[in-house]
Amino acid sequence: MMAEVFCGVAASPGYALGPAFHYVPYEPSVSPSIIENRQSQENIGYYSAAREAAREELETLRRRVDKSDPERGKILAAHQSILMDAVLDEEIRDRVLSDLWGADWAIWESYGAYIRRMEGASDPLLRERAADLRDVRDRLLRCLEGQPSKELSLMDTPVVLVTRDLRPSDAAVLDRQKVLAIITETGGATCHSAILARCSGIPAVLGVENALALLPAGEEVLVDGTEGRVVLQPDESQREEFRRSQRLFASRVQENARFLAFPAITADGERVKIHLNLGTGQLKPPEVNHVDGAGLLRTEFLYLEREDLPSEEEQLSAYRQVLEAFGGKEVTVRTLDIGGDKQLPYLELPREENPFLGSRALRLCFDHPDLLKTQLRACLRAGVYGSLRLMFPMVSGVDDLRRAKRMLTQCRLELEREGIACAEDFPVGIMVEIPSAAIMADLIAEEADFASIGTNDLTQYVLAADRMNPAVRQYYRPFHPAVLRLIAQVSRSFGKKGKPVCVCGEMAGDPLGAAVLVGLDIRQLSMNSASVAPVKRALSLLDTRDAREAAQAVCSMATGEEAELYLRKRFAYLL
Ligand code: PEP
Ligand code: MG
Repeated sequence: MMAEVFCGVAASPGYALGPAFHYVPYEPSVSPSIIENRQSQENIGYYSAAREAAREELETLRRRVDKSDPERGKILAAHQSILMDAVLDEEIRDRVLSDLWGADWAIWESYGAYIRRMEGASDPLLRERAADLRDVRDRLLRCLEGQPSKELSLMDTPVVLVTRDLRPSDAAVLDRQKVLAIITETGGATCHSAILARCSGIPAVLGVENALALLPAGEEVLVDGTEGRVVLQPDESQREEFRRSQRLFASRVQENARFLAFPAITADGERVKIHLNLGTGQLKPPEVNHVDGAGLLRTEFLYLEREDLPSEEEQLSAYRQVLEAFGGKEVTVRTLDIGGDKQLPYLELPREENPFLGSRALRLCFDHPDLLKTQLRACLRAGVYGSLRLMFPMVSGVDDLRRAKRMLTQCRLELEREGIACAEDFPVGIMVEIPSAAIMADLIAEEADFASIGTNDLTQYVLAADRMNPAVRQYYRPFHPAVLRLIAQVSRSFGKKGKPVCVCGEMAGDPLGAAVLVGLDIRQLSMNSASVAPVKRALSLLDTRDAREAAQAVCSMATGEEAELYLRKRFAYLL
């Protein structure tokens, strides 16, 4: 077979070679079902067989990982005990035999009752149990449907994951030991699967159309996450080139790491603040020492992978944990950004034709004020434990900001009336990601304490190119002069008022992006942990006068392509 080359979006740098593994996550789809009396024994039979199959699966898995990964072994043993729990078992049987529920519905509801109870608990350990219960329930339902396991832990060798899309809830499958690289059919460099891959340091090429059909399971594939290429059945010369690139990449990673522990200072001595982008619970403590704060806490991750909304107490404890981990360093908590490519199944939101232009983020919160109020109360209370900044996403103008601030004041008054401690005034700012907010930045800067530019969304909205859609990839250009001019405008407007501007989109974590942003007078960049070292190194080589000159040059160019090529050439030494 001849080697075949497929192109996609270079979403997470690095190289890998290994067998393709088709990852098709199982999603239970259960609805209420009532059976006839005569079918009840049959349904009990299905349930018993599924329970036995699930038990065997767990036993095989546990034996396999016990030695290599005892922690995971313990989790699997806990899953076995949940599965074999006598009370749960009796409840399921009772629902089938007495209430005449179908086996799937009986499993769903019996587990569901416990899951909901655990999720509402204030003890974080109990809340974690909810995820375990969900895992066991889904395994049981999959066995009931007779679908085979797609467990990565069952693989003898590490694999290249090929999947349609990687959702935030799939983060758990990103085990560095088992996953050499990721290839998806959908998505672009700034969609959330790419961000996830970069966070875990796994090379990724996204938006490879028909990847599941083109890359047969088990066939060897070479993944080049730096250039965005996938080679099926590489020949000897391609393997040789791969080994060379891999060696070079590894030595660059090592060299970058030398910059990690030092503050970011440009070649001409300007200090640039480096902040981390965080999803809840992703924090590894040593990283805190390498950065000046957290520039974007994506709180929506707290709402995913569960079946109801997180309570005020639960949010308080999650935000407090991050604030305390950062000591006195600034932590920018962004309120819920759901909609677009992030959905909450339990909210049952209406289907929208254009979800990115629909009821997303702050707009969705305005439609569900209780949702936002719970979060604002949690933030106000958490603010006591550190240096919190509050940030609203998808602000389209001053009116949105005023409305959100009014709700914040209301929550503060409520808490004070209830005698509950909350933080003194903290900075309240906005994400600039809708063009109208960038255009109106001079007036918004009078009422917002800071701005953080979300270049991922700003790019898609300015250029009308869906950040998820590979078909419009050539239109989605973060370095397009139209995008850069708007960033310059925001930087100037907030600068004039002496108010800080950060960039927390993926552009900030790209050495070329960091260079051009510094050239636009941005001095705070927020990024994934994997980008900190390469950006610090790049900044150490960058002269701000050079950066300013380059930024001015690209702002007056005619096309995105021209700007991109110019920056690649001019700043090649930063990569
Ligand atoms: C952005 O839009 O640039 C951003 C940082 O937010 P998100 O990627 O979560 O939409
Ligand atoms: Mg955004």
